[in-house]
Amino acid sequence: MCGITGYIGEKEAAPVLLQALKRMEYRGYDSAGISTIYKDNVTIKKDIGRIDSINEKIELGKAEGKIGVAHTRWATHGGVTKENAHPHLSCKQKVVMVHNGIIENYRQLFKELSDNHEIKSETDSEVIAHLIEEEYDKEKNPLKTLQNVSKKLDGSFALVVIFSDKKDEIYGVRKYAPLIVGIGEQENFISSDIVSFIDYTDNVIFLEDKEIVKVTSNSIEIVNFDGDKISRDKTHVAWEAADVSKEEFSHHTIKEIHEQSSTVQNALNQDDEEFEEFVNKLTSGKNIFITGSGSSFHIALIFRKMLTKFVDSPVQAFLSSESEEYIESMNDNAILIPISQSGETADLLEVIRNVKDKGVTVLSIYNTVGSSLSRVSDFSLNLNCGPEIGVAATKSFTSQLAIVYKIIFKLGNVKDGNEKIIELSNKIKDILSKEKTLQEIIELINESNDVYFLGRAIHHPIALEGALKLKELAYIHAEGMAAGEIKHGTLALVEEGTPAIIINPKDESYNDTINNATEMKARGAKIIGISSEDNEVYDYWIEIPKVENMLYPLIELVPLQLLAYYTAIRRKNNPDYPRNLAKSVTVK
Ligand code: GLU
Repeated sequence: MCGITGYIGEKEAAPVLLQALKRMEYRGYDSAGISTIYKDNVTIKKDIGRIDSINEKIELGKAEGKIGVAHTRWATHGGVTKENAHPHLSCKQKVVMVHNGIIENYRQLFKELSDNHEIKSETDSEVIAHLIEEEYDKEKNPLKTLQNVSKKLDGSFALVVIFSDKKDEIYGVRKYAPLIVGIGEQENFISSDIVSFIDYTDNVIFLEDKEIVKVTSNSIEIVNFDGDKISRDKTHVAWEAADVSKEEFSHHTIKEIHEQSSTVQNALNQDDEEFEEFVNKLTSGKNIFITGSGSSFHIALIFRKMLTKFVDSPVQAFLSSESEEYIESMNDNAILIPISQSGETADLLEVIRNVKDKGVTVLSIYNTVGSSLSRVSDFSLNLNCGPEIGVAATKSFTSQLAIVYKIIFKLGNVKDGNEKIIELSNKIKDILSKEKTLQEIIELINESNDVYFLGRAIHHPIALEGALKLKELAYIHAEGMAAGEIKHGTLALVEEGTPAIIINPKDESYNDTINNATEMKARGAKIIGISSEDNEVYDYWIEIPKVENMLYPLIELVPLQLLAYYTAIRRKNNPDYPRNLAKSVTVK
């Protein structure tokens, strides 16, 4: 959550930072700000709202100076106000700073500082700027100052800091929140996200936790919190800048939905040896745990259902934010499979930190190149689906699923697994070409306050995912349920016209699910069947092609994504930036 960035170099910083903010807006978008330093003047421009509207109002890109920091916020502490927006400035204007994360002991620090400092915002962040100034007055040395301060801060933080009397230097600090240095020609960047500077450079250095970096326009120096020098090679990231454009689509979300016919194929492109090693490790475990949050947790559920048929060891799936009893039961013969698009999900990374010392083997599945998750895993598989900008997961979900299939094919000795997925990707194209036929259903959903998504067996996680998409994009209350559970409570909520989306291709669970749909219909629900076969209980039928049973989840999800997207459009919501949400959940 929050995008933070800093620039130092030969260019005017503000326009570069403004472009970076636009690229990172998906990380947080309730308020934003830029600060630059020119001669002895610190300029801070910040306000609430989306970046474009702030820019129209106060011209974010017009501030003098070749050094600056910027922030796009997803508030955790303190409301969405101009005062709470970052950057934050210390009292004597010696320190300007942006923060991503949560400072758990900020109230205590506030008390300690309040005699000598005027803290203006309600955030947990501003206190850091004052603490740095206090410490800098004593130490006079920025690196030493930041080491001392970092040790006083509890919680998670990535900071970009400028000392106004050191206009040729910019500093980054990382502990449990992402921070990357972009290496340019006579210019350098510090940022929470590669996409923010990808137009200028694809050479990067990934900072590790508990590290501080000092960056000038032509040098980079890293130390750890104890002041020891760290040498780190640069990495070349192979992402094209074009990957983050919307091309001919009106939103990133619909572009990403359409990309799925190719991204599911890209997910299959794994290094043979590394893939083999990943699968061998997986099967060597005596206890297998799969974890994720949000959509990735739904993948964990599908993965568990499929994997149990192929391995003797028990397999459990759990939410990363509800991990206690699972962590307790892991020991050195356990395998942990964390799944995450961003690879920065705070809850998930905390699970790994808690089990690493127990000797647990971590086999991860992630998308963001160089993410924290990729660097704390023993073995990993990358989704290869390119940056996902839409806040709601779409292409990353189906790519995760494609990787699950690849693993299951391997375990089941299926030789033509890749061909099957390629065939499936053509079927995705067919479904996408029929998006216009959904209009009537979108109208029905648009007029409803509640929508139920039902599915059994491997379709249950898809029901959960379909409901999540509708909540995120259309802001309609939706509940994904195991179809058999409706009579244990939820039927009481069904009224005349309540939409019930039944995910029910023709497989072993078909007849039982039809019975549940019939029970809903008898109480007045309007039944929308997503199936390879029509049925008289359906008021509306969304046809999906016939495929092998285990492959249905990938294909049946696509119409659910379209329903959520077009209902959002119908309601004039911006599907790329759903209210109150942020893409990469880097806070607990
Ligand atoms: N805790 C800070 C704030 O509320 C930063 C939020 C974040 O990183 O998402 O301003």
